[in-house]
Amino acid sequence: MRSVPGKTTRGNFGCPFWLWPVAFLVSACQPAADDAIDLIVEGDYVVSMDAGGTVIENGAVAIDDGIILALGPAADITAEYAADETLAGDGRVVMPGLINGHTHAAMTLLRGVADDLALMEWLQNYIFPAEVEFVDAEFVRIGTELACWEMIRGGTTTFVDMYYYPDTIAEVIERCGLRALISATVIDQRSPDAEDAGDSIAKGGGFVERWLDRNSRITPIFGPHANYTLDAEQLRATREAAMRHGVPISIHVSESQFELQNSQDVYGMPSIEMLDSIGFFDGPTIAAHVVWPTPEEIPILAERKVGVIHNPSSNTKLASGISPVTEMLEAGVLMGLGTDGTASNNDLDMWEEMRLAAFLQKVDRMDPEALPAPAVLGMATLGGATAIGLGDSIGSLEAGKRADLIQVAFDDVHHVPTYDVISHLVYVTDEQDVASVVVDGKVLMKERRILTIDTDRVAAEATELAARIQAALAERNRRQ
Ligand SMILES: [Zn+2]
Repeated sequence: MRSVPGKTTRGNFGCPFWLWPVAFLVSACQPAADDAIDLIVEGDYVVSMDAGGTVIENGAVAIDDGIILALGPAADITAEYAADETLAGDGRVVMPGLINGHTHAAMTLLRGVADDLALMEWLQNYIFPAEVEFVDAEFVRIGTELACWEMIRGGTTTFVDMYYYPDTIAEVIERCGLRALISATVIDQRSPDAEDAGDSIAKGGGFVERWLDRNSRITPIFGPHANYTLDAEQLRATREAAMRHGVPISIHVSESQFELQNSQDVYGMPSIEMLDSIGFFDGPTIAAHVVWPTPEEIPILAERKVGVIHNPSSNTKLASGISPVTEMLEAGVLMGLGTDGTASNNDLDMWEEMRLAAFLQKVDRMDPEALPAPAVLGMATLGGATAIGLGDSIGSLEAGKRADLIQVAFDDVHHVPTYDVISHLVYVTDEQDVASVVVDGKVLMKERRILTIDTDRVAAEATELAARIQAALAERNRRQ
């Protein structure tokens, strides 16, 4: 790590200016080891995802102390900086890490327990009862570790989580090195970690207090489940708690036709209008799904700067519907992408979400030009970062931003030949192609080797816990 900015480049020989002539003559002053920056990441292409869409051929990114110092042609960067570590760029594409704007990470342990059902039957008859029975802090610890492993492997560097035992989630994130907004779930029913809405708001407040400003990679937030599992007063109370602590909220909004009908029946208006009418959007809000906004509600989302997270796999698997992403983007709504939990997806692969998001818009509108590759890649990077309130610090590769980036291997047969790198990233690349992952300047995966998680231990623990869940489910089915 370099200590004094401006004294560490190869250009000034790493020594005081009055020695430069001497250094030039004898080349005696090589950069001292402690003058080197932390990391240089190189690539055949550096896809910055900045506002201008800059792509640098044979580029490199210079990183120190968790921050991007510079990016440019690799020859310039390596001439300017010496680094403790370099990730070589042959056959690699460098881009910002992917941002999964909505998931329930620990549900990796419920992957495949109930499939091929509609949202409300799936939630009320399978997921909620299974969670009350099986989910405890240990479940959350193992399930979240499993999810972090899968996300790092697939090039996700930031995610927005909503689950139970948020302190346990935060402890896992602290260790595995990812960046996350962690929502304390608020729901008006007995859940794994609370009795009702009031209890979950109180416990959520404790979590937020404990984790606010504790780790710059972790943002503790509130996660009221939806406007059909909480009433107006409870939703308002959650917003007030979030305002008191100065933190955002993530919530499921307008996900299914059940929700649309329920909101009409109970409140006389659809969900987004209802939430706006109670002042719910007075603070930063991350709204997952938004499959059924009315034409009158889309401008509300834009005006109130609600970050909308599109979850195409979950919406298709549960037959919730196709979100009007194109209309929302045209209206200026901040849009990101998410996987939702693995029980309704069934994986955490953001590449698949990108491809499916693009294909769904095209077939829904019968327009192959709908949601083109650059737009959907934007939703998974800078757009997603902006939607979750972190657009100033992550989501694109620009000097001064936090160093969250990935190297994608472009040497597999499906990348040969490469005419258009953006097209390949959206329509060809999958999670197996991700080679290296850097978050906050720290290498979490290097050439497909995960450095921050003991994957053998996590696999063994997950397998053992899943066997206990399966035995208990079999016993319950036998008794029924
Ligand atoms: Zn969800």
